[in-house]
Amino acid sequence: MRGARQIASPNHDARPAGVEPELIVIHGISLPPGEYGGPWIDRLFTNTLPAHVHPYFAEVCSMRVSSHLVVERDGAVTQYVSLRDRAWHAGRSSYQGREACNDFSVGVELEGTDTEPYEAAQYDALARVVAALCAAYPRLSAQRLVGHSDIAPGRKTDPGPAFDWPRARGLIVAACAAPPRR
Ligand SMILES: [Zn+2]
Repeated sequence: MRGARQIASPNHDARPAGVEPELIVIHGISLPPGEYGGPWIDRLFTNTLPAHVHPYFAEVCSMRVSSHLVVERDGAVTQYVSLRDRAWHAGRSSYQGREACNDFSVGVELEGTDTEPYEAAQYDALARVVAALCAAYPRLSAQRLVGHSDIAPGRKTDPGPAFDWPRARGLIVAACAAPPRR
């Protein structure tokens, strides 16, 4: 992803042969929960989160997880896994009857919580990112965008009611319609 800070996460593997991204999964993440900034998302995705810093870190530091992209509160974008590869963001999941959404999706984490409004800069960055993804992968579209809670109901709640879907979809449709930026 052009313009994104690059941090390589080892938590990925190959997509199944012949499978391209055809779904975008929106997540919310904050480490510790409800706190923003700091190196902790980088550290979680690179398996270097220090367990002693916070009780929550002790719970999650041994999880092997990643996402393709993270959008911080100020709209800065970091990429952890190549879009060609399978990031480990969705876990047990199902989309329209199809299991294992990691196989065929792109994971985008927004730094935030289920209940605190996401920032305008995050919606703007998300729209740019999704437009770039849709331009690169013909099976992606503004309609093929779901929340983690949609594909893992009962198990996951992110990005939560704080995420304004109509606002996001409006910006994404506009960004997809605009000529690509050079
Ligand atoms: Zn999630």
